[in-house]
Amino acid sequence: MQVVASAWADRRKIGWDKVEWKGRVVLITGGSRGIGRAIAECMADQDISIALNYRSDEVQAKISAERVLAKGAACELFQADVSQADQAKALVDGVLKRFGRIDVLVNNAGVTRDTLLLRMNDEQWNDVLATNLNGVFYCTRAAVKTMMRARFGRIVNIASISGVVGNAGQTNYSAAKAGLIGFTKAVARELASRNITANVVAPGLVDTDMTSTMGQAAYDTLIQSVPLGRAGRAEEIGEAVRFLASSDYITGQTLIVDGGLVMD
Ligand code: NAP
Repeated sequence: MQVVASAWADRRKIGWDKVEWKGRVVLITGGSRGIGRAIAECMADQDISIALNYRSDEVQAKISAERVLAKGAACELFQADVSQADQAKALVDGVLKRFGRIDVLVNNAGVTRDTLLLRMNDEQWNDVLATNLNGVFYCTRAAVKTMMRARFGRIVNIASISGVVGNAGQTNYSAAKAGLIGFTKAVARELASRNITANVVAPGLVDTDMTSTMGQAAYDTLIQSVPLGRAGRAEEIGEAVRFLASSDYITGQTLIVDGGLVMD
């Protein structure tokens, strides 16, 4: 506890610097590829420990871990399906057993099961809600206990612009991501007095496995609507996550990172 307080005090004195992260433990869900891997690489630094969750792809998860280790951070892999309450709890318990604390929780794990509303079956609806919304609830509920005791915590949830403006063919995903934004605001209000912040990063189109199944024509049409004229890079989402995790005074906010696709 003393270490946390002094690292934090150092940070206030020196501003943005590596010291602010010294000794901190970051748990990232869905870290075996795509945006989760990029977030891990972005957060990785000397004296940081990254707990990297994955669900099924151990081979890719090991590649993520190697990249984190190459940056001088400690890294450990934790297999768990966050859509299952018992596995999400076991994930958090496992990280606490290994590292003793969780300072930053990044709820990144997500899935899509796109189809039009009239064709959407219960399984497609429930799968998407289970991982993208229930999973965040399970992991956050388990992780905030240690953050409350430490009187420090940074939670960053990965939503989507689909949760902000809606997207045809994604009623399940848009509902889950919009729910995630509401959930984050409630968490931010509930835990602010414990120096725990909760924020959302809402990406637009980012080139990852998730978007690789889009047809070329649909992809090109979408890119034409992006003012900056290209898809996002996963590391650009990582930078936004790091920024929010580093802030003392931003909470309950949604940071849209989409090349200008959505503007108020
Ligand atoms: P991705 O390439 O498909 O990777 C998804 C990651 O989530 C994988 O590491 C996967 O693990 C993990 N995962 C899925 N279900 C899980 C579960 N139940 N428990 C634990 N881990 C699980 O997707 P991505 O593009 O990087 O997306 C990451 C996040 O950004 C998601 O929340 C997504 O909704 C959001 N997002 C993406 C875009 C985009 O354009 N790519 C846009 C907006 C928002 P395994 O591979 O081990 O199964």
